[in-house]
Amino acid sequence: MRSDQPLLSVVVPMYDEEEVLPMFFARMRPVLDDLGISYEVLVVDDGSRDNTATLSLEAAEDWAQLRVVRLLRNSGHQAAQSAGFRRARGEYLVTIDADLQDPPEAIAEFLDAVREQDVDVVYGVRSDRSSDSRFKRHSADLFYRVARRLTSTRGPDHAGDFRLMSRATVDAVNTLPEHNRVLRLAVPALGFRSAQVPYVREHRAAGRTKYSLGRMLTLSIDSFTGFSTAPLRLATALGVGGAVVAALFALYVVVNRLVGQPVAGWASTVVIVVTMGAVQLLCLGLLGEYVARMYLQMQGRPAYFVAYDSREASEEVSEEAAVERSVEGERAGATRGGGPVREYRERRLR
Ligand code: UDP
Ligand code: MG
Repeated sequence: MRSDQPLLSVVVPMYDEEEVLPMFFARMRPVLDDLGISYEVLVVDDGSRDNTATLSLEAAEDWAQLRVVRLLRNSGHQAAQSAGFRRARGEYLVTIDADLQDPPEAIAEFLDAVREQDVDVVYGVRSDRSSDSRFKRHSADLFYRVARRLTSTRGPDHAGDFRLMSRATVDAVNTLPEHNRVLRLAVPALGFRSAQVPYVREHRAAGRTKYSLGRMLTLSIDSFTGFSTAPLRLATALGVGGAVVAALFALYVVVNRLVGQPVAGWASTVVIVVTMGAVQLLCLGLLGEYVARMYLQMQGRPAYFVAYDSREASEEVSEEAAVERSVEGERAGATRGGGPVREYRERRLR
């Protein structure tokens, strides 16, 4: 372990979280200070339009362990976490939401679980979701149920993105080639030994949810298409089923004709045509999802670009590291000197 490498990195993706930010820092800091280990808090500002970055950098002026990485534009919760995974230096890494729905105090329990059970991953499992809306609870239930059926990954249900991972796990995730990786499925899929810590999901402390219905749907589609090819087989299954029904129907028509009672009415015909049309479009759409994934993968565009990293701004960053990063597809914002806030503002003005 290098001497400047902290034991723990806490990665916090933030998108327009200026309202909750002061509360989050105020609650997080004593928890981490009391752990008695070296740590860094890595705020990944996911292209916020509000003052999240500036407020974080101001807080970093008297909290040396706070580091701010800003993405060029809003790239989504999963991409922001991936950026944190790449940049974090800790031997252990915890990802946590900024809105205090995940209690920072549980991090101590995560670390206890690592010490006592010799595991690489500790999942925070939501034991009580009564603070979530009824819709969120039902949709989450459905998500985990479908995920369990469709994908072969065996992570605990209702484990979101509040978890602790060892360096080995983080390095493994960093080698994954896919762009739209859904970490809550990708991490269990790796198969590291794991433990679970139950926690009560609290209400969002301030601000509004950044997960719209559209984003939840995208996350679900990415999850299922990323970890299962079963939906592709749906077309085959429906095709086989349809062929059997069509054969029976043909038989019925022929027999009727022989008996001398031709089938009357067009309603049945219309129903069949419409049904077949819908089934075909559905299957085509499913195929499209996979083709789109392959297309995005082939384009090879990074899921995010880093615009600024307060650590690189305040310290000298070796040319090697910068080159390595640009190979990864990140743009290393290697700038030097000056306080981080000023540095950041100057960069913004340019
Ligand atoms: N988030 C992000 N980028 C986005 C959307 C969300 O970094 O595009 C962050 C957000 O700031 C928060 C976390 O992801 O820290 C979880 O989002 P949120 O609490 O809004 O989701 P919910 O708990 O309602 O599912
Ligand atoms: Mg939340």
